[in-house]
Amino acid sequence: LTIRRRPIRYHAGVTPHGLVLFDIDGTLVRRAGPHHRQALVEGIRKITGLETSTDGIPVQGMLDPDILRIMLRRAGASLPLCRTAMPEIFRAAERYYLRVCPPLHEKHCPAVAETLERLRRRGMLLALVTGNLTRIGWRKLERAGIREHFVFGAFGEMARTRGGLVRLALGEARRRGVRGPRALIGDAPADILAARQNGIRSIAVRTGISGLEELVAERPDFLLPDLRHLRLRMLA
Ligand SMILES: [Mg+2]
Repeated sequence: LTIRRRPIRYHAGVTPHGLVLFDIDGTLVRRAGPHHRQALVEGIRKITGLETSTDGIPVQGMLDPDILRIMLRRAGASLPLCRTAMPEIFRAAERYYLRVCPPLHEKHCPAVAETLERLRRRGMLLALVTGNLTRIGWRKLERAGIREHFVFGAFGEMARTRGGLVRLALGEARRRGVRGPRALIGDAPADILAARQNGIRSIAVRTGISGLEELVAERPDFLLPDLRHLRLRMLA
């Protein structure tokens, strides 16, 4: 089986046939190493001097700012400190991640590159909805070699909830003239919930760490072992 690697470009003036929103961790990339967690720890250390950890925080499906807030509160930071320090912590965490993020070409979830190319050939606009801070998310995809597929993203610091991020992404897609079906693909119950809150289709993949039962409990429109099982009719 050979997969053609012809680069695909989005053409100005061509209206996409639909929108597919992707989560990053556990959906596109997995086992990306400790660098992301380290970046959150370093961001807090750099700006507040506090020693923190992500140990015991169920980070999967969470927004980075929420993770940072829990880390800070556990280390005894006051709510006002959390609020005022947060923007600088974001920047410090991102700077750290940009320095340390390793190549992630080997860390794709199954069939990621083929799936993204196939969807784009079918005229789908691809975008991101992720709890990652903006520059962390983009760098992860860049290091995985799949950044070029995504036109825009809604990232962790842009809204209070994942549902809010999906709403932002849908607004951006509307501004870009996207018509047709809209779906979100993710590996966590939080992704399914965020899709449902926004009335779009939810496709869950079991490539992250969520258990089958907790995904089933959120009743996604489709529940797939991995992206190899994605069919275009699921998006229509
Ligand atoms: Mg995820």
